[in-house]
Amino acid sequence: MADYVSRVIELCEAKNPGESEFHQTVEEVLESLRPVIEQHPEYEECALLERLVEPERGVTFRVVWVDDEGKVQVNKGYRYQFNSAIGPYKGGLRFAPNVYPGIIKFLGFEQIFKNSLTGLPIGGGKGGSDFDPNGKSDAEVMRFCQAFMTELYRHIGPYTDVPAGDLGVGAREIGYLFGQYKRIVDRFDGGVLTGKGLSFGGCLGRTEATGFGIVWYAEEMLKANGESMKDKVVAISGFGNVSWGTAWKLQQLGAKLVTISGPDGYIYDPEGITTDEKVAYLLELRGSGKNICAPYAEKFPEATFVAGKKPWNVAADFNCKVDLFMPCAMQNDVHMEDAKNIVASGAKFYCEGANMPTTNDALEYLIKEMTAVGPAKAANAGGVATSCIEMGQNSGHAVFDREKVYEQLHGIMVNIYKACADAGEKYYGDRNAIVKGANIAGFEKVADAMMAQGLV
Ligand code: GLU
Repeated sequence: MADYVSRVIELCEAKNPGESEFHQTVEEVLESLRPVIEQHPEYEECALLERLVEPERGVTFRVVWVDDEGKVQVNKGYRYQFNSAIGPYKGGLRFAPNVYPGIIKFLGFEQIFKNSLTGLPIGGGKGGSDFDPNGKSDAEVMRFCQAFMTELYRHIGPYTDVPAGDLGVGAREIGYLFGQYKRIVDRFDGGVLTGKGLSFGGCLGRTEATGFGIVWYAEEMLKANGESMKDKVVAISGFGNVSWGTAWKLQQLGAKLVTISGPDGYIYDPEGITTDEKVAYLLELRGSGKNICAPYAEKFPEATFVAGKKPWNVAADFNCKVDLFMPCAMQNDVHMEDAKNIVASGAKFYCEGANMPTTNDALEYLIKEMTAVGPAKAANAGGVATSCIEMGQNSGHAVFDREKVYEQLHGIMVNIYKACADAGEKYYGDRNAIVKGANIAGFEKVADAMMAQGLV
């Protein structure tokens, strides 16, 4: 008979048919937990893994709003509250046309481990809608957010569930969502949402926190292998908030970022996205609401736009050297053929930035062939960690200064790296086994808390 881990993976697939992204992360995480599970037979006796893969609660709701033409629009809304063993559910909201339960569940499941890795008291959850904010007017976005919150408000609260942004949900959306929440409950519950504007309880540094954290994590990974960020040539995908924060921190550490990408193709800038003007332009590009990166090459003519391709073969496309690849766009951005191109480029390092950007087979191949590979749930945990700092700020009616937030965030990222490497060493005899190590380190605290709290 198959072992406990394999049986739960199969069971989860059977119970959630067609939700391939959810199945992908469950398989990746549970497979790497095997050596821990073997040491704890009591986990099977109390069905710990079966409980871990089953959200504590999931709501699906109708969102009705009226567009600028007066036409009635209907979208689906979701919130999956996955695990509250170590703190209130915490995780973003994603607004994108491809959103369905398989995507929200994969994100919610990943969030359990990511949030645990921060060392802060936050559980895991995720939500969103199949609403596409691209091309919508400001008024339409506001009406949609108000309609969405009119249902969501009854499921969230500063000690229950604290949503934030994710793809398609930035400061503007969080502002509209917060305004509607406050109107309904008639209370200034600052800590009910994070990523708020600075004038109403937001935390300095939150916007760039995810990107900064990713680079700090990657820096630890490089240092552990005797190298530094200085003068490294870096290729990333994406051009949103995460990519912007990543670009900014790479610039500060003296690395040379040569690519960004969008749904339309990728940009190669041989001189590097290394000036203040270029880094700031990334925000402008995203803010245009067009979801394309091609205009970068019009603004900076030394750059080339490559239509319809991803940056994973940039080394061969432009005969350039790349040291570090960082997918910062979205899930399943790097497939096996991309992984082969990345390895063929001679790059030694790969660090995920977006949630689950690598397919499971590609990830395994990269781990086998490269010096070190950093996992998203550890590397991008700086965003949610800073969200938790924002929650603390709100509950204490305080305002923390930017440098303090950066200092705390940097410390958190260094600790996360260490926790991953320690678990890698303990269970796999390898300090570079940080993909598996991240799953284990995140799991251990949640498992302890679940065991202590009985069969709930
Ligand atoms: N959506 C972000 C993530 O993937 C941030 C979540 C949060 O700040 O709650 O972690």
